[in-house]
Amino acid sequence: MSQSRLASCIPLPLDNKVLSSVVEKAKDWALMHGVGMRDKAHFSKDTIQIAPFVLLPSPFPRTEFTKAVDLQPVLNELMHKVSHDDEFLEKTLQNALEVDDFTAKLYNIWIKVREEGITQSLSLGLFRSDYLMQQPDSNRIKQVEFNTVAASFGAITSYLPSMFRYVLRQLGHGELIKNMPENRALSGLCSGIIEAYDMFGVPSAVVLFVVEEVSYNICDQRFHEFEISEKRPDIMIYRKTLNEIYEEAELNDKKQLVIEGRAVAVVYYRSGYEPAQYPSQKEWDARLKVERSSAIKCPSIHYQLAGTKKVQQALAAPGALERFMAEGELRSRVRDIFTGLYSLDFDDNGERAVEMAIADAERFVLKPQREGGGNNLYGADVKEALLRMRHSRERAAYILMERILPPLISGYVVRPNAAVPPSLCDLVSELGIFGVIIGNKEKIYINRQVGHMLRTKLADANEGGVAAGLGALDSPYLLDL
Ligand code: ADP
Ligand code: MG
Repeated sequence: MSQSRLASCIPLPLDNKVLSSVVEKAKDWALMHGVGMRDKAHFSKDTIQIAPFVLLPSPFPRTEFTKAVDLQPVLNELMHKVSHDDEFLEKTLQNALEVDDFTAKLYNIWIKVREEGITQSLSLGLFRSDYLMQQPDSNRIKQVEFNTVAASFGAITSYLPSMFRYVLRQLGHGELIKNMPENRALSGLCSGIIEAYDMFGVPSAVVLFVVEEVSYNICDQRFHEFEISEKRPDIMIYRKTLNEIYEEAELNDKKQLVIEGRAVAVVYYRSGYEPAQYPSQKEWDARLKVERSSAIKCPSIHYQLAGTKKVQQALAAPGALERFMAEGELRSRVRDIFTGLYSLDFDDNGERAVEMAIADAERFVLKPQREGGGNNLYGADVKEALLRMRHSRERAAYILMERILPPLISGYVVRPNAAVPPSLCDLVSELGIFGVIIGNKEKIYINRQVGHMLRTKLADANEGGVAAGLGALDSPYLLDL
């Protein structure tokens, strides 16, 4: 089937001279407002370069955008309930745990802190639910995944509507600005951290960002720090790696996590979601120390486990949503965003899924329990992997997902060190909606939708991670179809 195309916000292509000039303006706007990243090839703390972005906001149907926004608090609550359902998590993850060492280590920390008695019952979630439009289904949104840990780009993308307003005005199309929704993700996400801080309620406590050894995506992290500092000058933020936490943090007799003599109120993980971020036992020990402490974790370990692909797949299985949501319109709306998700466990359903994917691999994506991009398999690789793993227990670490076919968009991608003017390309967009939640098993205190991000990639690329250099930052231009 040929892919349909959504109309761009202004007629394309642009005249080359106009294009070159507006690209230069947009790049300077980006650099001067922190739409940037550190250069991986020539890392220096003294410089940032532009993060890849699209020149014009990409079209997105208004009804689908609104649907995703409205659903976010519902999904926040669903994931909150899932993460507090020990039995469901155990049953869902048990086969994967046997073959996936990383998820097993996270899970074992969860068991351990439960056995010891939970010191901090509150969790903070800064979530992001991601969607692609399913073109054969009238461009309705389908959920790609639900991120519960280190969901990024809320900060930088909050500035993009402003950049696109500038670009559209420079192109003489200021009248179109009304079709771009404001994005207050940065402020909303930071409010979540601040509210959790206040609920911790210890004066002079600090907020701890758990960061990578080298942070390439520095703007997206620092903006949170700047925003919190503006709103609440009394809150000090520390940035530490897991290794530094191992070395420097201690638990006192009240189980407070103490760094440099100060109790930690909130721990915000921007690292710790993939195996490479735990190069030794020290990092795992640090993680355990944090989880044992009274600090409010973002995410708590059970939030992180609830965000695994395996849980996403289990929630789409018949009967699962019923466990968490009463019958009614909301439940149907949630079910409607799920696409085909299949377990590869060793049972009848798993066997059927394996057969189905081997017979028609192009229709599927094979996903391990990993975050951060670049781990999934597509097309011929799905078939090859399943033929190899068919009789091996390893296959239980993966889920099978129907491949979503988004509509095409025409646009220009602006990248650092790339030729100007860029050429007009076929692109596809992925929408992310941010949510904030704070609660414990008994009660949810805060639950809201706080903003969005759009990232857009070349239509023929399988994945579109911006930090990985594949995707480009974007913001929706809402279409009334
Ligand atoms: P990760 O945790 O690595 O971000 P995702 O599930 O988000 O894993 O997959 C990474 C990327 O792969 C997505 O951003 C999307 O571009 C692509 N992708 C994932 N699932 C599908 C799917 N079912 N159909 C089409 N593309 C997909
Ligand atoms: Mg993703």
